[in-house]
Formats: sequence, C-alpha cells, structure tokens
Amino acid sequence: MRAFRIFGAFLLFFTSTLAVGDVYAKEPDPYWERMKLYKKVETVTQIPWYYLAAIDQYERSIRQVRRDLPKVEGTIGIYFRPEEWAGLTNPNPTDKNPATIQFFNGIGVDGDGDGKASLKNDEDVLYSFAHYLLSYGVDQDNIKIGLWNYYHRDKTVSIIVGKAKIYRHFGRLNLDDHSFPMPIRSNHSYRSTWGDARGWGGRRIHEGTDIFAGYGVPVRATNYGIVEMKGWNKFGGWRIGIRDINNTYHYFAHLSGFAKNLKVGQIVEPGMVIGSVGSSGYGPPGTSGKFPPHLHYGMYKDNGYTEWSFDPYPHLAMWERQERMMMRSKKR
Ligand SMILES: [Zn+2]
Repeated sequence: MRAFRIFGAFLLFFTSTLAVGDVYAKEPDPYWERMKLYKKVETVTQIPWYYLAAIDQYERSIRQVRRDLPKVEGTIGIYFRPEEWAGLTNPNPTDKNPATIQFFNGIGVDGDGDGKASLKNDEDVLYSFAHYLLSYGVDQDNIKIGLWNYYHRDKTVSIIVGKAKIYRHFGRLNLDDHSFPMPIRSNHSYRSTWGDARGWGGRRIHEGTDIFAGYGVPVRATNYGIVEMKGWNKFGGWRIGIRDINNTYHYFAHLSGFAKNLKVGQIVEPGMVIGSVGSSGYGPPGTSGKFPPHLHYGMYKDNGYTEWSFDPYPHLAMWERQERMMMRSKKR
C-alpha cells in the first residue's frame, strides 16, 4: 500500500512536471522567460500567474505608447518610479536595501533572495507588485481592490481583469496572431480613408477603415481578446468592441447582426465569427439601409489616461496579406 502511494506521488510529480514542461516548450523565448517568472512568483505568493501576466502586459503596452516612461529593458514590463520603489521620504532614491526601503514605506522588496531590492531585477520588480497585492488578498475581489488603490482608474482595473481572463482561458502568453475581419475569399474592398471627412455623420473625422462587402458576409474577430461592448449606437448601429491582449480596442460597426450567444465578457480568438456585414445606424435602434453595406473598422489605443484612434488600414492590409500567404503555403 505504502509503495503504491509513493509510486502514485512519484507519478503525480512526474506527470505534473511533464505538463508544465509541455506548456513551456510551446512558448518562444520571451514568453518562456516571462511565464517562468510568473509561475515562480505564483508559487511563493499564491497570486494566480494570469493576474501577474495581465498586470505585466498592461504595463508593457502602456510603456509602448507613453513618452514619459522609460522603454522596457528586461523581461518584465512593470514600471515603478525610483521614489515609489525606495519610498517618497527616503533620502537615497536609488536605495536597494530592503530594510531601509521598508522603513520609508517604499514598494520595493527582494524577490530573488540576493539580499537586495533592485529596480533592475525582473524578479524583484514582479515580486514587489505581487507583494503589494498580497496585502489585500489573493482572490479576484481583493486583487481588484488592490489594483484600484494602485491605479485609481476603473478602466485600468477592468482592462487588467479582462487580460487575466484571456490568459487563464488560453493557458499561454503567446496570443499575437491576427486575422482579417472578413473571410479572405469573400468579395470585399477597402481604401485608406482614416482622418477623412465623413461621407455621413456630420463633421467628425473618419476614425476607421470602411470595408465594403455584401449584406451578411461574416465579420470575424481579428485578435485574441475580450468583448468589451455590444449594442446599438445612433451612429455605429449594431456594433461590437473587442479589447486585445496588447490593450488595443477594435471597433466593428454597422453590423446587420451579432453571432449567436455572443456576450460582453466573452473571450474571442482571431477568425471567430462575431457578426455579419450590414448597414445599420443613423437612426433609432434597427435603422438600416441609409448607406451601402460595409464594416466600419476602428482601432483605438489606451495609454492609461486616455484613448485615441489610429489608422487601422496598414494593419488590415498586413493581416490580409499574411492570411493569403498562409493559405497559399497550405495549398502546396
Ligand atoms: Zn466608417
């Protein structure tokens, strides 16, 4: 019996290492390095890896578009200002001593056990954020409270929680694939018209690309992401908003309908059908046919304070090209 139990434990250990090894094996290098750190800090703090991944990815995406923050150098994207790390009243703003940092209420702690709390050490940085959250708790409600007290922005909290949900769902970090929003073989056309005066809808500039196609042509998610918005708007008609893992918001408007069972909060992946092309909008709910059927596709970036529109045309053209190339290579 005892031998059996030992064997069982051994088997359990062996299979769980195998499973973990398997996950890592699929990740290309930067993802593998990140995942290793998330799992390590999860083991010590009990904060699920997907929350750590979501916070890290949020901060990385913010730093890509903000000029007032330094570029990411290491594996971890989380940024602490030196005075936040060492403590506001600490006379030494580059302090690495965990004891004096703690004395001055700095956020920095020693994560890798080398006796120093260093802003340049990825494990120290990740562990310090986890250590901060730990003072609230490790379940979703307490993590959310901790995040709110840190960022003071509801939108940031919901973006991070959404990302955590995506990472948890797929169980991996490599979620960078894209799809064109319509089946490649469908009959569609589009030009670069971002920033133009609108043909309809008054004096606002055109914040997107119009892809013209017939009624009912499937509209597909272009990224891994989460449905943030679904419903009617006077201008956009029936529309869907999806936030991807890189904190870009994708806006699909003038749909003739939504995919069955599509819900706010749902996880989507590239190529998943979310609705169909229509001409809805410019009137009360249900108004349709005031212009030719097309998909209005918009892309918006968030920097932690505000959100702004940028030109989706180059991305659409690239995704379409990539998909055509993939289809050709599959045929051979
Ligand atoms: Zn448009």
